[in-house]
Amino acid sequence: MILTPEQTDFVKAIRSFSRATCGTLAQRDALTDGGRQADSPSLLATLSGLGWLGVSLPEVYGGGGGSFVDECLFLEETSRAQLPIDAYSTGLTTVQTYLRFGSERQKRAAVGTVVAGGVEAVALSEPEAGSDLAAARLRACGDGGGWVLDGQKTWTTAAHLAEHLLVLARTGSGGTKHEGLTLLMVPAASEGLDIRPIDTMDSHTVNDLFFTGVRVPADAVVGEVGKGWEQLRRGLSVERLIIAAMSVGRAQRALDDVITFTRQREQFGRPVATFQAVRHRIADLATEIAFCRSFVYDVAARVDAGQPGGLAVEGSMAKLKCTQVAKWATLEAMQLMGGYGYAREFGVEQQVRRALAPPIYGGTNEIQREIIGRALTR
Ligand SMILES: Cc1cc2nc3c(=O)[nH]c(=O)nc-3n(C[C@H](O)[C@H](O)[C@H](O)COP(=O)(O)OP(=O)(O)OC[C@H]3O[C@@H](n4cnc5c(N)ncnc54)[C@H](O)[C@@H]3O)c2cc1C
Repeated sequence: MILTPEQTDFVKAIRSFSRATCGTLAQRDALTDGGRQADSPSLLATLSGLGWLGVSLPEVYGGGGGSFVDECLFLEETSRAQLPIDAYSTGLTTVQTYLRFGSERQKRAAVGTVVAGGVEAVALSEPEAGSDLAAARLRACGDGGGWVLDGQKTWTTAAHLAEHLLVLARTGSGGTKHEGLTLLMVPAASEGLDIRPIDTMDSHTVNDLFFTGVRVPADAVVGEVGKGWEQLRRGLSVERLIIAAMSVGRAQRALDDVITFTRQREQFGRPVATFQAVRHRIADLATEIAFCRSFVYDVAARVDAGQPGGLAVEGSMAKLKCTQVAKWATLEAMQLMGGYGYAREFGVEQQVRRALAPPIYGGTNEIQREIIGRALTR
C-alpha cells in the first residue's frame, strides 16, 4: 500500500515517539511495573494528549475523524514498538458496537473515554460460554424500569482499568439460545460488581467478573432488548481486523529483532545472518509478513469504503492468518536468536507469550476457520 504524505508523517511520528519513550526494556518496565501490567495509563494519557487515540472515531463524539487505514497504521506501529497499551484496542473494539447501536449518551461516553486515554471493556465470555457465546447465562432482570444483573463473566480484558463494561446478558427465556440476549452498558464501579485478576502466563490483563444484584437504569440497554446477539455479530469483522493489524506489528517486530541480532552475532567466524539456512528463514518471515500487511490494509480500505457488514469472511481470514504468522514469527525469532531469544533482556520471550493469546481470543482460530469454511460451502 502506498501511504499518503500525511500517513507517512504519522508513522514517522509514532516511530520516533516510541523510540524515545519505550525503546528500551528498562523504559517499558518502568511503565508496566516490571512487566507485571499489560497497560500503562500514563502512556495512554500522553498518547491522548498527542491526539493519536481514536483517530478513526467520529469527530462528532471527540474522535479524530480519520480512516480505518490510519487506525491500522497506529495499531501496527504501536504493537511493533511494544507500547504497553493493549487496552486501547479493547476500547476501540468495544466502541464499534456503541457507535452502531448505542444511544447518543452511550456513544459520547464510550468514545470520549477511549479518546481521553481511558478504557472501555467488553464482557461476553463466561465459564460455560466461550466459543459458544450464545449460551451466556448471566441474567439481567427488569426491575422498576431498570435492570438487575446476577452471574459471572470471565476473561474480560482490562476490566480493572475500564470506565464501563459492555455486558452480554440474558434478559428473556424461551426461543433459541440466540434470542433473549441483550447488551448493557454497565459502569465498572457499580455496587455489587467484583473484578478479580486472572493469573496467566503474561502480565495482568484479564479478569473474572462477579455480578451480585448489580443495578443499572433502563437506558443502559445498548440497541434493542433481545437483539444482543445479532448486534454483536455485526461488529465482529472490525474487531478481527484490529487484532490482525496488531499481529502484523508484532510479527514485524520479531523480524526486526532477528535481523538486528543475526547481523551482529558471530559464530564460526561470521555473522549468523550470513548462513543460508538462517537467511532463508528471514526471507520466509519477511514474505509472509508482507502478504499479511497487504491484506490487512486492503480490508481496512474496504471498511473505509463502507463495506464493513460485507467483510465477515475477510475479517476472519485476516485474524486467522495474521495471528498465526505473528505466533510463528515470534517463535522463529526466539529460535534464530538462540539462548538470547529465551532471555528476558532481548524482549522476544515476552513477544512469544503475547503472540500466543490472539489465536485464542476474538473468536478462536478454529472458529474463524468455521466462519470462512461455512461461508464458502453453503
Ligand atoms: C488473553 C485473553 C483475552 C480475552 N479477552 C476477552 C474479552 O475482553 N472479553 C471476552 O468476552 N472474552 C475474552 N476472552 C475470551 C475468549 O474470547 C475465549 O477464550 C474464546 O472465545 C474461547 O473460549 P474458551 O476459552 O471458553 O474455549 P472453548 O470455547 O471451550 O474452546 C476450547 C477449544 O475447543 C475449540 N472449539 C470450540 N468450539 C469449536 C467448534 N465449534 N469447532 C472447532 N473447534 C472448537 C476451540 O477453538 C478451542 O481450541 C479472552 C481470552 C483470552 C485468553
